[in-house]
Amino acid sequence: MGKANRRDFLKRLAATGAALGLAPWSIESMLQASASTSASASPGLGASGKATMLSTWNHGIEANAAGFLALQQGGTAMDMVEAGARIVESDATGLSVGIGGLPDRDGHVTLDACCMDHTGNAGSVCFVQGLPHPLSLARKVMEDTPHVMLAGAGAEQYGQELGMTRRDLLTETSRRAWEEWRKTSNYEPVINIENHDTIGILALDDSGRLSGGCTTSGLAYKMHGRVGDSPILGAGLFVDPQVGGATATGLGEAVMKTVGSFLVVELMRNGETPQQACEEAVHRIMEGMPTDDLQVGYLALSHDGNFGGHAIHEGFNFARTTRQGGSMIDASHG
Ligand code: ASP
Repeated sequence: MGKANRRDFLKRLAATGAALGLAPWSIESMLQASASTSASASPGLGASGKATMLSTWNHGIEANAAGFLALQQGGTAMDMVEAGARIVESDATGLSVGIGGLPDRDGHVTLDACCMDHTGNAGSVCFVQGLPHPLSLARKVMEDTPHVMLAGAGAEQYGQELGMTRRDLLTETSRRAWEEWRKTSNYEPVINIENHDTIGILALDDSGRLSGGCTTSGLAYKMHGRVGDSPILGAGLFVDPQVGGATATGLGEAVMKTVGSFLVVELMRNGETPQQACEEAVHRIMEGMPTDDLQVGYLALSHDGNFGGHAIHEGFNFARTTRQGGSMIDASHG
């Protein structure tokens, strides 16, 4: 992380702490802890406990730091997931999640998210426009409604009833990128191995509660109305509290066709390690369709803290944070 990025990161961490309602002194101590760690490490809290967080891609390191901040304040695994999602959704420089996410081919930013908690409860929203924190909305659907999934205008209406503030999610940067794309695109959605960056988060707290979440602006320049795997339970995310959790990133269509995250967890239920299960789920895709131009990566965390990650192609990485600190890990591939 460069100096400027680190400054931004620390600012966002402070903002997250404030958003979580943390006392100023505790935000201060977390920032000091963070400042004294190495470039790729997130704050070690110097206490014992089995808490572990895994999050996809580079932004996972700050998501995990925010999650541990929530844990430090007495939060549960689900609070860790939500805090991690919110800091990445708030980052206007990230082009694949929340504010600043790349729009569909008509210029609309549409967001998808879901979550599952340690009781196996689940919530999801898809095709949400104008609300920057779809994972928080999915959590509200999970905790406060009799439903599991709300879509589009209905999800937005519920968010506004809850007092969530609407804002334009298209930034100057994402608008310019879309305008550039329009010049040569022929209105064709982009399918390639680079165009992926969703955040999938798996968290285990010290009491052994396991939760997960997934939040994204989806495939850049997708058709208007397209919904990917990220809000689909069993595809972009699945948590079986007795076994473990899994989350996916990459081409949602390939993940949905193989119900990937459920498959990973079910393989773990049948005795595979998280790593073996991720590999087998990736191979299931590779056996079923041409994959030269598409990327999918899986991340898995077992209820006892073992983890694994595997992707079709090189390039998928994830952040793993425990109370000893955090690091980026390059997933295996092929
Ligand atoms: N899985 C997401 C989707 O298909 C995109 C991604 O991970 O980049 O919407």
